[in-house]
Amino acid sequence: MSKAEFPIARPALNAPALGEPYLLTPGPLTTSLATKQAMLSDWGSWDADFNRITAEIRQGLLAMAGVHDDSYACVPLQGSGTFAVEAALATAIARDGKALVLMNGAYGKRATQILDYLGRDYIALDKGDYLPPQPEEVAELLAANPDVTDVFLVHCETSSGILNPLREIADVVKAHGKGLIVDAMSSFGAVPLTVDEIPFDVMVSSANKCIEGIPGFGFVIIRRTLLEQSKGRAHSLSLDLLEQWQYMERTGQWRFTPPTHSVVAFRKALEQHVAEGGVTGRQMRYTNNRNVLVSGMRDLGFQTLLEDRWLSPIITTFFSPAHPNFEFKRFYDELKARQFLIYPGKLTTAESFRIGCIGQIDERIVAQLLRAIADALAVMGVDTCQPAA
Ligand SMILES: *Cc1c(COP(=O)(O)O)cnc(C)c1O
Repeated sequence: MSKAEFPIARPALNAPALGEPYLLTPGPLTTSLATKQAMLSDWGSWDADFNRITAEIRQGLLAMAGVHDDSYACVPLQGSGTFAVEAALATAIARDGKALVLMNGAYGKRATQILDYLGRDYIALDKGDYLPPQPEEVAELLAANPDVTDVFLVHCETSSGILNPLREIADVVKAHGKGLIVDAMSSFGAVPLTVDEIPFDVMVSSANKCIEGIPGFGFVIIRRTLLEQSKGRAHSLSLDLLEQWQYMERTGQWRFTPPTHSVVAFRKALEQHVAEGGVTGRQMRYTNNRNVLVSGMRDLGFQTLLEDRWLSPIITTFFSPAHPNFEFKRFYDELKARQFLIYPGKLTTAESFRIGCIGQIDERIVAQLLRAIADALAVMGVDTCQPAA
């Protein structure tokens, strides 16, 4: 089938306008029409109606984390997710503290870069591109390094798509009496993460991942006593989480200009999250997307980077075919012409690409994607998808 004959994807779940591509990327992602429409009015940053929306989303996020008292605070912060990670690390780790960073991809590595900027001491367990940190290794490191105060773990390491063993590691960290900082950026909202199951001290996520909002802010859910003890730790005026929280508690407003449209879109996205059945409902849809994707890709001859038990319902890494006609840029363009944007790989050793399962897509759209992939491969003259040995 030529490009011109390829049928235009029908909008699923009210997703993109006709002709707009589906974003099969780990955020920004395809949002619903209702979420986009929520952005059609302007809001005063000091206005009571807008402040009510801010209060609602903070409350909604705490509820999603299973917080039903004032033991934790939710602090939204302008900027992309990394801004919130940076603010969280500066707040949670004392200036004379020391972190253990569990690293198996780009986002764990980024945490160490942030700590370098902050001048915080750390050690790292680097598992390379895709191996999970093991609870026993963490226990050994904590026993050998009693001066470590806090452990940082990425829940879903989006650079490979691995879902790291958070619960087992959380148990080890708590048994050693250390602080636990979780980057749940790409998992919160679609993989259960509640304070009764995972006694984290700090959890960071952002608007444009599994809750399906648009970019504009991140948020930190943090043990309130820890936040209150953090005075003087922040290295940056605009990333001072304690100041942001105190100002918000006092006035109901954001400390500096809020991303108003992103906030109202997020409120709409949260309503839809609840309507879908909350974390459970979203996890079911994404898991189904992932299952249809992985089995369809395997039928085409592709191989996943990870064994099934490590696959997240968020994003999947596939090895690029070794076929001489396969070239990622061309593959990307052919899929874009068929209304799908995929994501390049981030592995240091092997050629790969990634496909996201999150956003306003369902198995019907994944089936269309699989047909588009088969079609693109045919046009490129790639007749086998075996990766290099
Ligand atoms: C998206 C993401 C971030 C934040 O990235 P930004 O580009 O700053 O939004 C951090 N950690 C993980 C695991 C992510 O997936």
